[in-house]
Amino acid sequence: KRLILIGPPGSGKGTQSPIIKDEYCLCHLATGDMLRAAVSAKTPLGIKAKEAMDKGELVSDDLVVGIIDEAMKKPSCQKGFILDGFPRTVVQAEKLDEMLKKQGAKVDKVLNFAIDDAILEERITGRWLHPSSGRTYHTKFAPPKTPGVDDVTGEPLIQRKDDTAAVLKSRLEAFHKQTEPVIGYYSQKGIVANLQAEKPPKEVTIEVQKVLS
Ligand code: ADP
Ligand code: ADP
Ligand code: ADP
Repeated sequence: KRLILIGPPGSGKGTQSPIIKDEYCLCHLATGDMLRAAVSAKTPLGIKAKEAMDKGELVSDDLVVGIIDEAMKKPSCQKGFILDGFPRTVVQAEKLDEMLKKQGAKVDKVLNFAIDDAILEERITGRWLHPSSGRTYHTKFAPPKTPGVDDVTGEPLIQRKDDTAAVLKSRLEAFHKQTEPVIGYYSQKGIVANLQAEKPPKEVTIEVQKVLS
């Protein structure tokens, strides 16, 4: 399957992704994770992306389309993929369609993580991340066994620099202005499934499984 996850910051995309991936053997491409790795390695891409990310604004379409184009060439992505955090603009969605068309492929389903903005601040400010795997925890909703430590590897967890109430505001603005139109773009194609993302993680997983079965 070729799947896209769309939702505001904190809506649970990263939490559901590994479950979908394990069940359907897809490759998981999260542009936010890839960009953060580039920022932290101070690559030319990371240096260009950092300022926008710190402010909670979107990185330019050209940069992200470039990384997705590159990443989708991996053998593990040929049969299917989950795109998490991409496309975030209509231009990105159009570019993705062009890329897939060349391979005679298309997007099968778009999962729309629908949730009220008011819930997101608590989710975002309580989030802890294991950077190399993308695994997330939450101080209240999904605490790690030992605070600040990844359950699987024992490595330290971080709090993202942009996971503050102030930067969340800009990220939500960007979501409503630039990313919500992408949901409309795919609705016209009749492939959007709406999830009630404010429910507990296990209930969201059940909804996802229903949509994909
Ligand atoms: P979240 O999971 O909280 O929604 P991400 O980790 O997906 O956030 O993204 C973090 C930041 O990386 C975004 O605020 C944006 O600056 C940048 N980013 C990620 N994906 C894209 C994209 N497809 N287009 C433009 N910018 C992106
Ligand atoms: P996204 O990738 O969409 O930005 P995450 O999956 O990282 O969102 O989730 C944001 C935070 O909220 C994380 O700390 C995560 O543990 C927590 N979380 C995810 N899904 C739920 C849920 N259904 N209910 C409560 N908390 C959740
Ligand atoms: P600064 O030097 O300005 O503090 P960093 O380059 O350390 O910024 O980090 C930029 C952003 O990337 C921060 O949100 C940080 O939490 C996150 N980050 C740092 N290292 C990693 C990594 N290895 N993988 C993913 N995210 C990371």
